[in-house]
Amino acid sequence: MSSVRGYAALSAAAKLEPFTFDRRSLGPQDVRIRIVFCGICHSDIHQVRNEWGGSIFPMVPGHEIVGIVEEAGSSVSRYRTSDRVGVGCFVDSCRTCPPCQAGEEQYCEGGMILTYNGRDQSGAPTYGGYSSHIVVDERYVVRIPEPLPSAGAAPLLCAGITTYSPLRHWKVGKRDKLAVVGLGGLGHMAVKIGAALGAEVTVLSTSEKKRKDAKRLGAADFVVTSDSASLAKLTRRFDAMIDTVSAPHDMNACLECLKTDGTLMLVGAPDKPLSIAGFSLVLRRRRLVGSLIGGIEETQEMLDFCAKHKIPADIETIPIQQVNEAYERMLRGDVRYRFVIDMQSLR
Ligand code: NAP
Ligand code: ZN
Ligand code: ZN
Repeated sequence: MSSVRGYAALSAAAKLEPFTFDRRSLGPQDVRIRIVFCGICHSDIHQVRNEWGGSIFPMVPGHEIVGIVEEAGSSVSRYRTSDRVGVGCFVDSCRTCPPCQAGEEQYCEGGMILTYNGRDQSGAPTYGGYSSHIVVDERYVVRIPEPLPSAGAAPLLCAGITTYSPLRHWKVGKRDKLAVVGLGGLGHMAVKIGAALGAEVTVLSTSEKKRKDAKRLGAADFVVTSDSASLAKLTRRFDAMIDTVSAPHDMNACLECLKTDGTLMLVGAPDKPLSIAGFSLVLRRRRLVGSLIGGIEETQEMLDFCAKHKIPADIETIPIQQVNEAYERMLRGDVRYRFVIDMQSLR
């Protein structure tokens, strides 16, 4: 065991505060990673505030981790000391079920072990990336390709893979018209990745202030969803749409913008049910599908893709002492487009 410094929420009503805890000692297949940067995902807020239920406290959030391998176990073959690596939303899974065998560990039938707010094989709670170090089996670690900056790579471990995976699975590419709903952490990566895949991207947003950014990020068009006249002009425009919104919202107006046989890929995970009129789907044989992060192999593929296309996340770096303020700002939509904690501030 080794003692580690971090930040934790002690209850759903509490602000995050300094917290010291133990990491397991290095097993033969483990790497010990010194965390350099950790992104702040909206899922951190949902879980810290117990909006999805079942939260485990104290909770050390953080699943967009970039760090340096400090020590490798005796059987580790993929990584060496000083390698720059990433850890995303899960740190283990059963390894034997069909999804695990297929490299889609996020759909593990035994349940993947979440990086935080989960329980490891011994039943002990897992603690995430708002901390100085983490110990992870090398099979659940990815490599950060050389050209990506460390801070800008951190959000790729969740926001990047969560948008890349459905875009690839439903084969969004050249000649497709793609709408991105919600321009936050996930949304801005959906714009960058969608454009890099060759799609013509339109952003549907509640914030007029983000219009210029959308174009800079690679969108061809931008519409504010409260502007019903502009939205009506998009009727049956899109082949695909990715909805990244973190709160309950009316999706019917957005669905009308999909062509016949168009696909709405839902990745946002609001705590309350969404309202969808049956006719929004049935009249045009539209599809509503969901998608959860991505497997280890696909996460590595996404990192290599983002390195090749030079698309790290757009970030604002903060010291960990500002994490509670960052949560409030994120809830107000005041982030361009991901907060990333500089872990040096813990020292
Ligand atoms: P974020 O950075 O806070 O972005 C969410 C965006 O949604 C906001 O920037 C805003 O965009 C829009 N929005 C917020 N409240 C809204 C409302 N009431 N009505 C309409 N639009 C609203 O959050 P994020 O980190 O990207 O995460 C987004 C969601 O995805 C969260 O629910 C998170 O838990 C979930 N998530 C899912 C997965 C998965 O595997 N499926 C993975 C990670 C995260 P505009 O200002 O442009 O309107
Ligand atoms: Zn996340
Ligand atoms: Zn499994």
